[in-house]
Amino acid sequence: MVSSGTPKPAVQDPAAAAALVDVLNSRPHATPLLPDTLEDPATSGDLLRPFGQPEGESPSPERIAQLKVLRSDLMALVADPESKDGEQAWARLTEHASDVDLRQSFTPTGQVQLRQVGGDPVVGAVILAVAQLVTDGTWSRIRACANTLCSHVFYDPTRSRTQRWDSYETCGNRTNVAAHRARARSRASAT
Ligand SMILES: [Zn+2]
Repeated sequence: MVSSGTPKPAVQDPAAAAALVDVLNSRPHATPLLPDTLEDPATSGDLLRPFGQPEGESPSPERIAQLKVLRSDLMALVADPESKDGEQAWARLTEHASDVDLRQSFTPTGQVQLRQVGGDPVVGAVILAVAQLVTDGTWSRIRACANTLCSHVFYDPTRSRTQRWDSYETCGNRTNVAAHRARARSRASAT
């Protein structure tokens, strides 16, 4: 991310942001390691429903494979947006997004709309949701928990965009306690 920019109002499409957060959290993460719920036919359908996966139909292996690639591109952006990896991840995202054809169109009321005209519709809907959040300035609110044992992705609703943990109770406190102990230790060793 180049800069956090001026504060923008809350996300324009909270449902899209929440659905994206769920897709990112389908990856294996946390301690003990959670399984890949995108690979599980019992859960992948529900995860992708907000992106147009038809009810009662399991996503095809091709669709899952494309989404897993997309998910790791997006995770690289969420995990460390400032790093060199982040730049490469935007480039990879651009490359993988090129499998999906989008067209700019205008509605009868003069609104502008990016519409998918080719490629996998569910993969396209995920890319469109990311594009929407980037455009409205809320993409940088999607972040990974600073507790490395957790790294759960969450949506940061704070004005300052400084929330570090998905849950202050389970992750924030523990980190604070660890930081406090480390400070106490270094004070003790300094004297
Ligand atoms: Zn956490």
